[in-house]
Amino acid sequence: MNEIISNLVEFSRNVNPWFTGTIVFVFGAIFGSFINVLIYRLPMEMDVIFKPSFCPHCKNNIKWYHNIPILSFIFLKGKCAYCGGKISWTYPLVELFTAVCFVLFFILYGLTWDFFVLCLFFIITFPVVVIDFKYQIIPDELSIGGALIGLLLALLHTFIGFENNVNVTVSIYDSLIGVFVGVLIFLAIYYSSLVAFKKEGMGMGDVKFAATIGAFLGAAPATLAFLLSFIYGSIFGIFITVFKRMKNMKKINAFSKLKILNIYPNYMESILLSYVYNVYIDELKNSYIAFGPYMVLGAWTSIFFANYIISFIVGEII
Ligand SMILES: [Zn+2]
Repeated sequence: MNEIISNLVEFSRNVNPWFTGTIVFVFGAIFGSFINVLIYRLPMEMDVIFKPSFCPHCKNNIKWYHNIPILSFIFLKGKCAYCGGKISWTYPLVELFTAVCFVLFFILYGLTWDFFVLCLFFIITFPVVVIDFKYQIIPDELSIGGALIGLLLALLHTFIGFENNVNVTVSIYDSLIGVFVGVLIFLAIYYSSLVAFKKEGMGMGDVKFAATIGAFLGAAPATLAFLLSFIYGSIFGIFITVFKRMKNMKKINAFSKLKILNIYPNYMESILLSYVYNVYIDELKNSYIAFGPYMVLGAWTSIFFANYIISFIVGEII
């Protein structure tokens, strides 16, 4: 098995890299198309493999030549071939982004085990970012399914013994400890925020997704990934809060101007006050921030930079 892989690697080194790179790009675009399917269907609990592609407007099945990643969108000018319904430009963008990332992994690592695992991790984590951001959920197919895939890859890695350079291909023991550590940290946060704030600071989806990151990265890089995700989360959290405050301040200022001009009757004041008050209450109620995207960002930072970050921290201490 290892021989087949090393022959494949050798073969890919001898072939013109532009040729291989183009093939990787095409595969990336096809998998980007699959990522679109995951993003669209998983939140609705629809079949992602056997149900053919269909137009969200007229529900007609899309013919294969109308379903070519990136190209079909351009030829059809972003419209359904049957009903002319508008197709979101995010579909070709996701396909292009996936293709570019796959090519980047290929440039960095060639057609190696690392490349294969990075592509798989991308297919799992990219939909998590979009779905969690849009619906505040992380589907079990991606979290639990992702953890199982991570464990399986670790098992293969341990028993076949692939060479690896990045922090995504770990031994099965490290992978299992990673799952354990991830679940433990996020369960602790889940229960402590339930006790302290009487609400879920973190969803169960985040707990399960921590297992995915643990399984893929192993204990130490996963722990760093979680730490980074908290840092990213707080930075973005501050920005979002400040932005919302500024928006509300505008409303309050408009209200005070009315008050100064003294052109409103009393009942008007009560209506406006309750409006401003409700905006605040809404903000408090909806203060749940999707944490999945930060976990994904933390994981990818840890994959590529864990060694630098850890040696930097250790260097500072010693
Ligand atoms: Zn249509």
